[in-house]
Amino acid sequence: MKIVSACFVGIHCRYDQRHNALEEIRRLVREGKAIPVCPEQEGGLPTPRNPAEIVGGDGEDVLDGKARVIDNRGNDVTEQFLAGARKALAVAQAVGAKQAILKERSPSCGSCMIYDGTFSGGKKPGVGVTAALLRRHGIEVVSEETMKTESSGDTGEEGSSKG
Ligand code: SF4
Repeated sequence: MKIVSACFVGIHCRYDQRHNALEEIRRLVREGKAIPVCPEQEGGLPTPRNPAEIVGGDGEDVLDGKARVIDNRGNDVTEQFLAGARKALAVAQAVGAKQAILKERSPSCGSCMIYDGTFSGGKKPGVGVTAALLRRHGIEVVSEETMKTESSGDTGEEGSSKG
């Protein structure tokens, strides 16, 4: 069993109320092989919401209390991101998930790259808050760009997402 970013399934849970639907991942859910989770909604944030970025580090640093998650209006949403990460972990543990496929570049879900905290579109190597927490609990985290596919179909989607 896997957990997957809910926006991959076509749920309009992104900050801008859009989604990042990918047929490969929708199929996993239809076949009962994956459960969709949106950590930012689970953490209590509304949709639509202000885009947020990690300032002063990445998700690992947020877990360690060394960085914060701030939205583009200057609101500190760190606690909501942490709460959402804990709920995503609880879901993963409840279903015995060994792997998560999460949206790259999101401050929650990114597994290799995230936005750089300047709200300028720049990116930096790093992980999102949920991705970091899942990894700390032994769950493999991959993205739509690094997941192994069962077919040769298109698995990636260009464009940005701040979750
Ligand atoms: Fe939710 Fe954003 Fe993660 Fe998609 S990338 S599941 S919208 S937190």
